[in-house]
Amino acid sequence: MSYKTDIQIAREASKRPIQEIGAKLGIGAGDMLPYGHDKAKISQDFINSVQDRPNGKLILVTAINPTPAGEGKTTTTVGLGDGLNRIGKKAAICIREASLGPNFGMKGGAAGGGYAQVVPMEDMNLHFTGDFHAITSAHNLLSAMIDNSIYWGNPLDIDQRRVVWRRVLDMNDRALRDVVTSLGGVANGFPRQTGFDITVASEVMAILCLAKDLADLEKRLGDMIVAYTREKTPIYCRDIKADGAMTVLLKDAMQPNLVQTLENNPAFVHGGPFANIAHGCNSVIATTTALKLADYVVTEAGFGADLGAEKFLNIKCRKAGLSPDAVVIVATVRAMKMNGGVAKGDLGAENVAAVEAGCPNLGRHIANLQSFGVPVLVGINHFAGDTDAEVQAVKDYVAGLGAEAVLCKHWADGGAGIEEMARKVADLADSGVAKFKTLYPDDMPLFEKIESIAKNIYHADGVVADGKIRTQLKEWEAQGYGKLPICIAKTQYSFTTDPTVRGAPTGFTLPVREVRLSAGAGFVVAICGEIMTMPGLPRRPASEAIHLNDEGLIEGLF
Ligand code: ADP
Ligand code: MG
Repeated sequence: MSYKTDIQIAREASKRPIQEIGAKLGIGAGDMLPYGHDKAKISQDFINSVQDRPNGKLILVTAINPTPAGEGKTTTTVGLGDGLNRIGKKAAICIREASLGPNFGMKGGAAGGGYAQVVPMEDMNLHFTGDFHAITSAHNLLSAMIDNSIYWGNPLDIDQRRVVWRRVLDMNDRALRDVVTSLGGVANGFPRQTGFDITVASEVMAILCLAKDLADLEKRLGDMIVAYTREKTPIYCRDIKADGAMTVLLKDAMQPNLVQTLENNPAFVHGGPFANIAHGCNSVIATTTALKLADYVVTEAGFGADLGAEKFLNIKCRKAGLSPDAVVIVATVRAMKMNGGVAKGDLGAENVAAVEAGCPNLGRHIANLQSFGVPVLVGINHFAGDTDAEVQAVKDYVAGLGAEAVLCKHWADGGAGIEEMARKVADLADSGVAKFKTLYPDDMPLFEKIESIAKNIYHADGVVADGKIRTQLKEWEAQGYGKLPICIAKTQYSFTTDPTVRGAPTGFTLPVREVRLSAGAGFVVAICGEIMTMPGLPRRPASEAIHLNDEGLIEGLF
């Protein structure tokens, strides 16, 4: 049996004008800034005008540790939004925008899949409403102004060896990871070594996603550390006087984008910070706005629950005063089998024993999330080859932990395939049983915060870090950064820092290689293992197959 590709399904969507989608949430046509017929930004005035309304229920979709078998968090987020609307609830979804880099590389789209997608998926996966281009421009304006300040006599006394602000591009381009700028003589400035990161790794992206409003955005941009003097005193973006112009470049990008699902339900698609060196969820402004407009808001956190949900809860919810009413952990039979030791090529054959052997990975995520005081449901994202016995094995395992797993068929059947889950999630969210608490308090020392995540979430024995790293953390505490939360950057494939270790391992430690201060975004990044801030393209990049067909339609985009 052959299936339609995501783009084929998306192309057949019967989209409604974006004004109709906005009307479902009570947004008047005048409060939307349309980008064509099927996309709109929501005006800041309108957002301000709804602040006194009560919040709807917040539902987080997260997952087990990702495997090459694919889990489908975005697909489930979109499907659940459609399912809730289908059973008569007023629901909206909130997801991230896509980066061009992975789209032309290998990762796949960001709009969901099958019959649970956001449209127009081509736009969403390409230039969309230009937010990422605006972020790229704002970031690089600051880069240019730093070099310009050095060029014109260096009044801030910037140590050219200690410029930490790099340049960005929304592309996977390994050739630009390390570069030398200002070559070519006196008129071009002072040569120095620097490099490019992908736009989603920019601190500007993280700030756009955490800022409450434009004033908060400008303040946080000003707080960013861009370089140090020879005495190692920080130079801030504010010292370069770039924060005002950057805010101007970002003023439209700061407004959330509204689009629709295949079933014409509202979807906010806004922001897209990296899930490793940043927190990996859509913007605070989109989530808080959606909560004022819908009774249920379904949102996604990137990577597995050990990274994505942990940061959603400890960074985004803490900073924005949000508190989830229910959490859905996406699991698949195929991923359970991979966790149980089956190779990707052998996933087709029924193997109940392997499913059972892989379930402890899911079990640990369930217990971890429950420890935040939020009620959990497991959504089994059904793949065509899954057998009844395998699905039952997952359900039995989860029931054995006192939780519940629900089979979801939204990829194949849209909202109709996930009604049971929608009912259960709505009941759970309405029940008021959630008693959310963050994992660690603001005033815990930074190193102890890292230990708390390592021990309680990863189940590591402890944290290994050089004296140099501990000293750095102490220095930041002395400078007033001690109350910041931690953003762990590590592999998403494992609870450990070794991507090949699946399941629910114990008897390991968490090595912290480096720490970085994102003073504007407001977190301390603890880098554990190799972290790529400028990805490369694979041997056969997806871009080789992307083209316009004779009718002018895009082919090859998933
Ligand atoms: P995540 O958000 O976890 O990274 P996505 O929801 O983006 O994952 O899905 C990744 C890919 O897997 C998409 O191309 C999607 O079409 C596919 N996919 C998701 N669920 C299913 C399913 N049940 N059956 C087949 N393919 C699926
Ligand atoms: Mg996703």
